[in-house]
Amino acid sequence: MRVDPASGLLDAALQLPSPNCDERPPDALVDLIVIHGISLPPGEYGGPWIDALFTNSLDPAAHPYFRDIYRHRVSAHLLLRRDGSVVQYVPFHRRAWHAGVSGFQGRERCNDFSIGIELEGSDDEPYAAAQYAALQQVILALHRAYPALAAGHIAGHSDVAPGRKTDPGPYFDWSHLQALLASDDSQPV
Ligand SMILES: [Zn+2]
Repeated sequence: MRVDPASGLLDAALQLPSPNCDERPPDALVDLIVIHGISLPPGEYGGPWIDALFTNSLDPAAHPYFRDIYRHRVSAHLLLRRDGSVVQYVPFHRRAWHAGVSGFQGRERCNDFSIGIELEGSDDEPYAAAQYAALQQVILALHRAYPALAAGHIAGHSDVAPGRKTDPGPYFDWSHLQALLASDDSQPV
């Protein structure tokens, strides 16, 4: 995988542009990756609903849960589906609207200085091996393209919005991710 720094796009991703983004502050140093978990409806996988939510086309009549969220103007840079396939909604140099009210190490508004990666999943069951493999390759590609990220941090949405958010949930295996990142010799693929 490779990120083109000029376009802010990941070559392995299906591109599905979201309008829910804007410019980062001019002085923003992007040095944080925020990991999220999402499924729509909650606990169901494989449907078109995450794409629909992030492109403001979620049908509120399609499921009772959607009536509460279809007006939300949200996005993420990437979604990693259960099979490891990747969708990109926002170029990395732009500000995706994924973290909401948040803070990390004394800095507020994490959207300003972070990359948001959603994994299709829930708080109630493990993520798929294919998702960890894809996440490893995505993060290594981001590190190659943006050195500040390589020197930076990876946090969960629950870490940057404690008490308000629980994703990616207790089943997300942080030590496994760290082992994958440490073991890889980072050859571009
Ligand atoms: Zn989240």
